[in-house]
Amino acid sequence: MRDRSDRYHLESRLIHGEMISRHWNYQDHIVPPISASSAYRLETAERGAEGFVEFANPDFNDEQRPPIYIYDRLDEPSRGMLEENLAAAEGGESCVTFATGMAAISAALGVLLKAGDTVASHRNIYGCTYSLFVNWFPRLGIEVVFADFTDLEQLDAMLAAHPNVKVVYGETPSNPNLELLDLEAIATRVEAFNRDRPAPQRVFTLIDNTFATPFCQRPLIHGIDVVLHSLTKGIGGFGTDMGGAVIAPKLLEPDLLLYRKDFGGALSPKAAWPALVHGLPTLALRTRRQMDSALKVARYLESHPAIDRVLFPGLDSFPQAELARRQMRDFDGEFAPGSVISFRLNGSPEEARAAGQRLMDSLAKEALTVTLAVSLGQIRTLIEHPASMTHAALPVERQLEAGIDPGGIRLAIGIERARDIIADLERALDATSTSEQWRHVRARHEVAGSSV
Ligand SMILES: *Cc1c(COP(=O)(O)O)cnc(C)c1O
Repeated sequence: MRDRSDRYHLESRLIHGEMISRHWNYQDHIVPPISASSAYRLETAERGAEGFVEFANPDFNDEQRPPIYIYDRLDEPSRGMLEENLAAAEGGESCVTFATGMAAISAALGVLLKAGDTVASHRNIYGCTYSLFVNWFPRLGIEVVFADFTDLEQLDAMLAAHPNVKVVYGETPSNPNLELLDLEAIATRVEAFNRDRPAPQRVFTLIDNTFATPFCQRPLIHGIDVVLHSLTKGIGGFGTDMGGAVIAPKLLEPDLLLYRKDFGGALSPKAAWPALVHGLPTLALRTRRQMDSALKVARYLESHPAIDRVLFPGLDSFPQAELARRQMRDFDGEFAPGSVISFRLNGSPEEARAAGQRLMDSLAKEALTVTLAVSLGQIRTLIEHPASMTHAALPVERQLEAGIDPGGIRLAIGIERARDIIADLERALDATSTSEQWRHVRARHEVAGSSV
């Protein structure tokens, strides 16, 4: 493989990939080919035997020649090319992809944990990861303890109190509250803790980097061991396919490949291909546009009296603005606060929930640029209201107990024109306004809106 990392910017390399890849020499193609073969012809029985010996074998030097492909679930070229580029984007040694983000998260934890081990997790994490921890891990004899890792004393206390901790797990920015974790501080503390422990007792740090994407944040440079992604979100970017990825040190790659072979959950080459040819090559371009619009939209929302509070790492008012500026940086070191905004409507919990519902219904009916849907990081702006959607079954008091803000709304900015997104939000806020105050606000924004 030609190493072009010195000569060209990472952004250009993510567009062109490696034309002579260890996975496939596609010198004569402009677009990397999509492969569709569940099994591979083996010229001789000896070559077949060799392929099985080489698979997931750390002693096989895969820089010398392409792998011997046997069966899609083991290894496969289109997927392999995507893995090569994802590892480059995160600055990692190896990448293993999976059918979904959750399959990637389960696999990374699966290779590091066994019965009797403990996971120390930040308390604010993606809902299905939380469900994996509380509904499935206890069945496997794996304990999960939660703390607030924005307070590093709590991390120290947890490591001291639970000798069987093998994984420290978190997500930053977190879903849906956009809490940030100080990656360098966490890595430093775990590293100090590991110093006194024998190698098999080593604690690994795992960070779900889905919200930021590698364009806005690369946890490995801050000392984190393993990065997880849902490719379904910002990396895939177009909302057509699901996928997941684990970017890990080379020493974990064989186990990740063997885990994927035996538990399944391999990423289909047909789903790897869009991420490789559309997603990664446009990641920088899409994300820059989304971030630019997100800042405009966040400022607009912040100025709107019908809205109680706006959280966006790019705002000066963001509670962890200093950390955001230190940690969320693009490939050139520029501040890159991502494209997800969280905001809360005014009112008592009941009022805020009802107002959230009205806002969603109005957007669903009238708006072109804002779509009522879960997911994020797509070319389309998506909005969702957990209190009236995913958690609508719970009464308001129970929602509050579960940490769900009845007026909390998540807005994931797409690549539409910012002024159209703002106009759609404005129309919906106006249409669903009930108070004198809101009507008063409308007049003011008709003037302000024309400048964005
Ligand atoms: C969506 C998401 C996941 C799960 O990814 P899937 O591809 O839907 O399985 C995990 N973590 C975060 C932060 C997510 O947003």
